[in-house]
Parts: sequence; structure tokens; C-alpha cells
Amino acid sequence: MSDSTIMINKIQTDLIKWFDNHGRSLPWRRTKDPYAIWLSEIILQQTRIDQGLKYWENFLREFPDVKSLSMAKESEILALWSGLGYYSRARNIYKAAHILVSKYESQFPKTSSELLKIPGIGPYTAAAISSICFGEVTPALDGNAFRVYSRLFAMSSPIEKRSTIKDIWTLALPLISNKSPGDSNQAIMDIGSTICKPKNPNCPECPLEENCISRRSGIQHEFPVKLKSIKIKEIEKFYVLLKRGEKYGLIRRPKSGIWGGLWTPLELIPEDWELAKTNKNIDESNIKYLKHLLSHRKMNLYFTYWIGDTFPENKEIQWFSEQDLKRLAFPAPIIKILSEKSYF
Ligand code: SF4
Repeated sequence: MSDSTIMINKIQTDLIKWFDNHGRSLPWRRTKDPYAIWLSEIILQQTRIDQGLKYWENFLREFPDVKSLSMAKESEILALWSGLGYYSRARNIYKAAHILVSKYESQFPKTSSELLKIPGIGPYTAAAISSICFGEVTPALDGNAFRVYSRLFAMSSPIEKRSTIKDIWTLALPLISNKSPGDSNQAIMDIGSTICKPKNPNCPECPLEENCISRRSGIQHEFPVKLKSIKIKEIEKFYVLLKRGEKYGLIRRPKSGIWGGLWTPLELIPEDWELAKTNKNIDESNIKYLKHLLSHRKMNLYFTYWIGDTFPENKEIQWFSEQDLKRLAFPAPIIKILSEKSYF
């Protein structure tokens, strides 16, 4: 078994164990009736649990199943909803009840993809209902879950991006138990509401602590990354192109970090770059500037040729013929510079 499979299995088991011992005891968790769970999910979308509980009980008392709800007048539903706000939710409940009766024989569809066709049911609610009531193995991702997963996986891309949401879904899927997918999802919901809070995550109490990537580096507060919170950092880098006879001197970057494992010309620290100018190893009129934008970095890159036969001392420089250069991997801006200098 690979290390990552062992880790995934461990997280799955830890979540279920934690949920059994510490999951919140909520009335709608004592049933697997999709109608009752659907109502609880819709009511709690923009409402606190203590406030929503009374409404949930009232709805179930007045309309114990989807059929009775479908026979109610819209005004009765709105009256029962009164005080909860966001009345579009109540209108959607009314519409949904009619569709469930007319198209689904008063039964809830069993898969999240089918549940998504019901008014007012979005991806999170669909996954919550299908996993809790019908055992569908799918992650239920609401704001709390996104926060927990983005910290667990230290997701560096902004949470608002569609691709990030997709990535989180893909990474979360193997953590959902095949036997009790609803419990896995509810464990994440509870961890998000009670432990992995936005401001002060209480990591020592968290069943995910051992495997939480951001926690391991002590940077859990930096997640989830949000578009507006990304500060663009500006950095400058200075490169010299070394040529000895017919060969070019290059450096291979360390495996981790930016441009990991790729080849670049020799990078000089700013002081050495200035010194090279003073010593006339660099022709100031022949410096090429390139701007390179990354998601949260603006790189100002400066390139020039090294003049003279005495090269900067660096054991890592390796020398390549023009032919050799073609089989090396370079970062995109370096390719641009090298091709402009007609090296390729
Ligand atoms: S270890 Fe901390 S940051 Fe990581 S999921 Fe748990 S509470 Fe959140």
C-alpha cells in the first residue's frame, strides 16, 4: 500500500471515529428521511441552528411529508417561513414539492446529479442529501467544508476559482468513506463549524491535525486563499548569459520552489550585479528586461551577456553546446529571452 493510500485511509477512519464520538447531536441527524433532511438543509442555508430548529419542527408538524407540503398554498408556506428571511428559499420549497410529486412520485431522487434538478437544491445540498440518505460517495462542499479542505491540502489557488473548487472536490473524494459517506461529510461540516473556525482554528482538537498540510507548516491562518487577499509581491532577478567558446553556462534550479528542476542562466544577487557593472563584465546598454506575472508575484527579470573570460565562481555551473540546449527544460520567460538572443 502506498504512503498516500495509507494516509487517505487514516483520514477516512479518523473522521468517522471523531464523528461517532464528537459529532453534534442535531434532531435531523436522527433520521435518514430525505424530506426532513432537505428541509433542514434549506432552512439552515442562511440561518443559525438555534433559530432554524423551531422552523424545522413547525414545518414537519404542519407538513410531515412532501405530498402534504405540495398540497399547501404558497401563502401558508410563506407564513410558516415568516421571520426567517430570504423568502426565495420558501418559494423554492413550494416549487420543489410540486416537482417531486409530479415528476418523482413524491420520492427524492437518490443521486446528487438528479437532486440538482430540483429548485433550490445546489451542489452542496444535493451532495449532503444523497450522501446522508442514500449513501452516495460524494463530498458535500459548503463554505465550512471549503475552509477545512483548503487548510488540510494547503490549497494555494483562490477559493473563488472554479478550478480550485474542482481540485478540492477531487482531493476530498477519496476521504469520503464508502460505508458511511454521510458521516464523513457531517464530520467535515462539524469540524468546520466547531474547530476549524475562520479566525482561530483549534488544531490540537482536530482529528485532521496529524495530516493537515497547512497546520504542519503553521500557516493554517493563510487559508483559504481568497482572490482579494492575494498581495502581489514584486521581485527582481538578475541573470547573466555565460559563453565559453561554443558552450553556454547554465544552472539547474533546486527541485522545490519556483521553476523547480528547470535550467536558467546564472542568477546574480543585486550586489554582484552592480559589481559586475562596475567591473565592466556587464554592458549597461545591453540589458534586456522582461516582466513575468505569476498568480501572486510580479517578476522583473533582467538579462545580459557576461563580458570577459573570468566567470563568476560557482560550482553548479554546467556547460552545454548549442545542440545540448535543445534537450533542456527552461522556464517560459527564459525560453523567451534565449530565443530572442537566437540561441535556439
Ligand atoms: S488541523 Fe487545524 S487547520 Fe487543519 S483542518 Fe484541523 S483545525 Fe483546520
